[in-house]
Amino acid sequence: MRVSKVFSFDSAHFLPAYHGKCEALHGHTYRLVVTVAGVPDPEGMVIDFILLKKIVQEEVLSVLDHSLLNDILPQPTAENIAKWIWNRTSEKVRSDQAALFEIEVWETPTSYVRIRSEDILETP
Ligand SMILES: [Zn+2]
Repeated sequence: MRVSKVFSFDSAHFLPAYHGKCEALHGHTYRLVVTVAGVPDPEGMVIDFILLKKIVQEEVLSVLDHSLLNDILPQPTAENIAKWIWNRTSEKVRSDQAALFEIEVWETPTSYVRIRSEDILETP
């Protein structure tokens, strides 16, 4: 089963290695969807929603929300943000019966990046 929780955070960024609209400083309300896959434990849960929220709050939102993303990542594209979030959360959500399956980072209501475990194996 796949279990997801939806979050949002407000951040500013600019893309120095890009020539276009996102080159100048501006902000987005990002939408983040974290999905964990596994089998339910004896309590009937793949991962407790409360635990998932706590991990994302501590590892991701407390750092990214109301921040300048360039202080954290040199080129904060949605792709690089998704990879960073993956690295911050994958070990924390892992258990005997569950593992991180997917991170979605929505930069606008119509544009998002999705990264899955198989993508991680292919990208250094
Ligand atoms: Zn942007």
